[in-house]
Amino acid sequence: MTFAPRRRTVTTVVGGIPVGSAHPVVVQSMTNTDTADAASTAAQIIALARAGSELVRVTVNTDAAAAAVPEIIHRVTDAGVHVPIIGDFHYNGHLLLAKYPACATALAKYRINPGNVGGKRRDDNFRTIVQIAVANDKPVRIGVNWGSLDQDLLTTLMDENARRPTPRDARNVYIEAMLESALRSARLAEETGLPHEYIILSAKVSGVGDLVDVYRLLASRCDFPLHLGLTEAGLGMKGTVVSTAALSILLAEGIGDTIRVSLTPRPGGDRAEEVHISQQILQSLGLRSFAPQVSACPGCGRTTSTFFQHMAEDIQAYLREQMPIWRVRHPGVEEMRVAVMGCVVNGPGESKHANIGISLPGTFEEPKAPVYVDGRLVVTLKGEHIVPEFLGLLEDYVARTYPAPNPPSAAAVL
Ligand code: SF4
Repeated sequence: MTFAPRRRTVTTVVGGIPVGSAHPVVVQSMTNTDTADAASTAAQIIALARAGSELVRVTVNTDAAAAAVPEIIHRVTDAGVHVPIIGDFHYNGHLLLAKYPACATALAKYRINPGNVGGKRRDDNFRTIVQIAVANDKPVRIGVNWGSLDQDLLTTLMDENARRPTPRDARNVYIEAMLESALRSARLAEETGLPHEYIILSAKVSGVGDLVDVYRLLASRCDFPLHLGLTEAGLGMKGTVVSTAALSILLAEGIGDTIRVSLTPRPGGDRAEEVHISQQILQSLGLRSFAPQVSACPGCGRTTSTFFQHMAEDIQAYLREQMPIWRVRHPGVEEMRVAVMGCVVNGPGESKHANIGISLPGTFEEPKAPVYVDGRLVVTLKGEHIVPEFLGLLEDYVARTYPAPNPPSAAAVL
C-alpha cells in the first residue's frame, strides 16, 4: 500500500530540529515531573531523549518552574544530551516569560494554548508571549485543545449557528471553533511580527474520529507544520491503540509533521514508553526507521513451553539495549529485520524474509533451531545456549553488514 505524499508545509526549525513536510516526522514527548525540581526534570528529559524523543516539552506553570528552566537545560547539556526543550504555558505564560528572561532565552519553543491565555486580556496576553518569542527568535506552537477551547469563540459560533435557517450539528460547530481558534491565533501571531515559518499548529481532541476530522480540515486550510496527538489518550493498551488508530489514519494521508502519544503512565511506569510507541507507529507505517524490527510469531499449541516467549523477549530487549551504540557504530542497522519463530510451520519461511532469523523447535519437533542469514540456512543451533549463540551471530551480522563509518561518526550517543 502506498500512502499519500506528505501535505506540503513550511519548515519550522525548533532548536536545530527542522519540522515540516520536507523533513522526517519528528517524535516528541513531555515530562511529568515538577519542573521546579530541576534534578528530576533534567533526569527525565535525558531519559526521554535517550529513548529517542527529538523534542521534549516541560510545563512552565510557576515562578519556581520558570526559574528552574536554565538549570534544567544546563544539567541536560552537561550530560551530553542535546535535545530542544519546549516550554508549555497556560494562564500565566505572558507573566512568566517576561519575568524570567533567562527561561525565555533557554527554551527552544513556546507552546501557547489560546484557550488559556486569560479572559478579557486574552489577545494582549497572547501578543505579549509572541513579542517575547520574536525578541528571542523562538518558534511557537499554537496548541488548541478540546478541553480548554476558547469559550467566548465557541459561544459566538454557537450563537451564529443557532441563527442559521438550518443550524449545523453542534459537533461541527465545535470543530469549527477549534480550527478558528488555531488559525485566528496564527494570524494574530503573524500580525504581531512572528514570521509565518515560526508557527506550528495543533488541535487536539480525545476521540479518533473527531481528531481525524479536525486535522483533515486544518491541513486543508493552512501550510503550517502540524503537531499530531490524541489528547487524554489514556492508560496502557487503550491509550496505545487509540493513539495508533488516530495518528496512523492521518499520517497515511500525509498529515502530521511531529507526533506525540499522550499516554498516562502507570504509577512508577516508564515515561519513555510514549516515545517507543511514537517510534513504532512511524516505523510500522514505513515513515521512519528507529530500531531493528523483530517478527515473532504469536506461538500456538506447537509452542507449549515458555522458552519461545522468553527468547523473543530477550532478543527484543537486546536490540533495544544495543541501539544507542549501534546507531553510532553501525548506521543503517535500524533497517534490519530479525525473525524469531516458534516452529517449522512458518519459521524457515519468515526467517528467509528477514535479515537474520531463527526458528525454534516446536513441541514434538527435533530439538534444533535453524538460523537463516540473508535468506540462506547458515547453522542449526542445539542445546541450552541457543539464545546467547544466536545473539553472537546477530552481533557478527551487524558488524559485517553495517560497518562502522570511516572516519567514525562524530554523532553523540544520546
Ligand atoms: S510458526 Fe509455528 S509456533 Fe508460530 S504460530 Fe505458526 S505454527 Fe504456531
